[in-house]
Amino acid sequence: KVMAEGRAKLSEVEALGVCEAYGIKVAAARLAKSPDEAAGMATATGFPVVMKIVSPDIVHKSDSGGVVVGVATADEARETYERIVNNVKRAEPDATIDGVLVQQMVKGGRETICGIVRDPVFGPLVMFGLGGIYVEVLRDVIFRVAPLTTADARNMVTGIRGSKLLDALRGQPAVSRDALMDALRRLSHIAVDFPMIEEMDINPLLAFEEDAIAVDCRVRIALPKKA
Ligand code: ADP
Ligand code: MG
Repeated sequence: KVMAEGRAKLSEVEALGVCEAYGIKVAAARLAKSPDEAAGMATATGFPVVMKIVSPDIVHKSDSGGVVVGVATADEARETYERIVNNVKRAEPDATIDGVLVQQMVKGGRETICGIVRDPVFGPLVMFGLGGIYVEVLRDVIFRVAPLTTADARNMVTGIRGSKLLDALRGQPAVSRDALMDALRRLSHIAVDFPMIEEMDINPLLAFEEDAIAVDCRVRIALPKKA
């Protein structure tokens, strides 16, 4: 559908839908088109929620004031809708705005990232790393060629330099390495099944003691060259 529409990028709802279809857990999310709709969806989801701009023209939502976490009441959801739209209109006046995503807030996880890239020599690669400063500043990420074996997935989760940060830490339990490996194997299937996916990023995949939950996902596909 996305290719037929000539779009190179999936919306966040579509991208999270791909994850969900492949058994990667995702935070429940719905697209609101008005402040009242956002309030209704937030109430149905259960507070607190996270609200995010949905726009085909915005890649890094936080950079333009497009993400608000911890929205606690229906009134706040209404106000937050307006605030997010205003922030984005100010930061990116030409951006098309589709609405605001109302998403279940998942608290207390450790941030990891994972994704798919395509290498001209090796083909599809699966990537894993710790989120936040670990990836931005320290570039602590690891790649393996898809399809991943169980050993590959284990080597990725244990092979990053910061792997100890996934252990019990400051009174928090260790995160489930099995859940992370499971998500990486599922991503590997996506990489093999969809050669048109050029790039996919789950950032963050929040890691918990029992599971791992995707809250943000981008997918870029290669469109056939126009004749
Ligand atoms: P972007 O990467 O486009 O700026 P994200 O959707 O990743 O936007 O949101 C920014 C940050 O907000 C995330 O890295 C994460 O720390 C936090 N966050 C986003 N969604 C949730 C959620 N559903 N539950 C908890 N934290 C979230
Ligand atoms: Mg993100």
